[in-house]
Amino acid sequence: MSNAALVELITREVLAELEARRGRNLARTAPASMAKRVPVAVSARHVHLAQREIDILFGPGYQLTKRNDLYQPGEFAANEVVTLVGPKLRPLTNVRVLGPVRDRTQVEISRTDAIYLGIAAPVRRSGDLAGSAPITLVGPKGSVTLPEGAIIANRHIHMSPVDAARWGLKDNDEVTVRTVDAERPTIFGGVQVRVSPKFRLVMHIDTDDANAAGLRCNDEVEIR
Ligand SMILES: [Zn+2]
Repeated sequence: MSNAALVELITREVLAELEARRGRNLARTAPASMAKRVPVAVSARHVHLAQREIDILFGPGYQLTKRNDLYQPGEFAANEVVTLVGPKLRPLTNVRVLGPVRDRTQVEISRTDAIYLGIAAPVRRSGDLAGSAPITLVGPKGSVTLPEGAIIANRHIHMSPVDAARWGLKDNDEVTVRTVDAERPTIFGGVQVRVSPKFRLVMHIDTDDANAAGLRCNDEVEIR
């Protein structure tokens, strides 16, 4: 075999090997890109306020001031905080107010918080407040006791219509997710899918769920 023929043979073999490797790499990445991975954000206890309650807690006509923007466009953490009180008269202080102002005041706590306060807050979707737990809010200018409004927010995933279509999901579907590389492998059921053009992809879980699985912000879960 001539030198040139040998070089050509080796070149062909190398190219064939590279091509085969590329194929194997594609085969590896394809399932990963199909995986329905969702980053996690842990929601600490917080309140959404209606202007009626803002007027009582912070003074008539008071306007919330922005501390920082949240991941979902338009949502923000306010500088304002309130204290929550229940029948056990044990205060939960420095509970963050989230803006913008809502039509109804909604208090979102964990089960652990509910036990601490002594209220029977139900697990609910955001906005589903009928028959939820009574709660007292205390601000610098006054306090208000709501006959209902305290909930344990359900597990939910915010996503855009593009993400929803890509994964064959629609608004208000319920899915099950499993943790990826979490300290304590966990499967979460009953996860509400919330679809809106305004939403960016993220799963919201409360501190009880996060702590149970050892999940932190930006960890990932996978929709099964
Ligand atoms: Zn959310």
